[in-house]
Amino acid sequence: MNKNLRAAVIAGNWKMNKTRPEAKALVEELKPLVKDAACGVVVCVPFTNLETVLEAAKGSNIKVGAQNCHFEKSGAFTGEISADMLVEMGVEYVVIGHSERRQYFGETDVTVNKRVKAALAAGLNVILCVGEMLEDRELGITDELVAMQTKIALNGVSKDELKKVIIAYEPVWAIGTGKTATAEQANEVCAMIRSTVAKLYDKAAADALTIQYGGSMNAKNADELLAQPDVDGGLIGGASLKAPDFSIIVNAASK
Ligand code: PEP
Repeated sequence: MNKNLRAAVIAGNWKMNKTRPEAKALVEELKPLVKDAACGVVVCVPFTNLETVLEAAKGSNIKVGAQNCHFEKSGAFTGEISADMLVEMGVEYVVIGHSERRQYFGETDVTVNKRVKAALAAGLNVILCVGEMLEDRELGITDELVAMQTKIALNGVSKDELKKVIIAYEPVWAIGTGKTATAEQANEVCAMIRSTVAKLYDKAAADALTIQYGGSMNAKNADELLAQPDVDGGLIGGASLKAPDFSIIVNAASK
């Protein structure tokens, strides 16, 4: 596998954090710190911050993403946001299937698949999250479970559409817990995801796919995780809320 075949991408997931003035301040602080990045830089922000962050990021190398979108184009879905609404604003990325959506908001593999397809049809880049719970890892079913999540999420996604998909491997036990997967554990599952994608599509498609690790990645452990052959970037929660920390991770991915 040749890492040079694919783009390294560091994406921040701000979760439910930051008011609009705070969001603007964070992006303004981040811009000069990541301006020379040799990797993709994305910030996935709350819906209420999208317009502010799009404006603040204008003319910079920072791309803007949302943290979810609905699978229908419009209609009676109170509280939801469609992929078309995001595109119309100028949003380029969307996180789909984050474990917090799966855990707290009833997201299933089937609704993740619907959202992935709707987002791609609208022209968005998708950051698709997969990952096992601690019980799954202890039962020794990580590979089966993550392969299944990947297969269902990509059901009906064409090889051409796959070019706009990033898969983020996020072991649920490592998200927001301060417990990071070891670099070897992260690489093992990212490599397994790549071989699953090779079986679904072909080797060239799998070689070109950006696979991120996410789960307590921070300024201290980023170097080791990002040096792994199948880890092409990171989805960063807590550490993306501080510009200096996030920029250290971005610069680690740029090496
Ligand atoms: C995340 O929100 O996707 C995440 C990985 O969070 P953290 O970095 O805080 O573990």
